[in-house]
Amino acid sequence: MMDRKVDTESIADMMRKTLLKIGEDPTREGLVRTPDRAEKALRFLTSGYQMDVASIVNGALFSEKCDEMVVVKDIEFFSLCEHHLLPFFGKMHVAYLPKDKVIGLSKIPRIVDMFARRLQVQERMTRDIAQTLREVLDPRGVGVICEARHFCMMMRGVEKQHSGTVTSSMLGAFRNRKETRDEFLSLVSQRNHPFY
Ligand SMILES: [Zn+2]
Repeated sequence: MMDRKVDTESIADMMRKTLLKIGEDPTREGLVRTPDRAEKALRFLTSGYQMDVASIVNGALFSEKCDEMVVVKDIEFFSLCEHHLLPFFGKMHVAYLPKDKVIGLSKIPRIVDMFARRLQVQERMTRDIAQTLREVLDPRGVGVICEARHFCMMMRGVEKQHSGTVTSSMLGAFRNRKETRDEFLSLVSQRNHPFY
């Protein structure tokens, strides 16, 4: 049974208990404000739960007869893995092939942040971003590639510090037409700098 008292406890209160549990002294100078800072940080890192697509996209959809691929690559993101609550971070490459609508380019990184600032698994985040763009734009296709490194792999367990994880979600023309997919992949692989 959940104690009702536990429900009213703040995140900072729980952090204080966590510090005790790991053998620390939460009253020492360096830690005394840490629970409050940690709560603030966690609230920011999960602020995507309070965001919604409609208010991000609001007013930034334009009717445009455009049949060229739109690509926004190297979008930095920082997220938290839902299995360990440890950061994973990397780059997202997003492309779509418009039908009759385009979206303000700055909105795409904001959609990425909305999903990244939640507890995530990389595969689901990649798919959710692709599906959101499909719903908003009704395009001929969407492609999303996510390259990430996970602290839960780098710092613990297998300790593979240089391995990256790549996930992708290809919808519509990006799934059905090899030509479209290849164009996206070649645009993404033209790099000014190597990945990490
Ligand atoms: Zn993890």
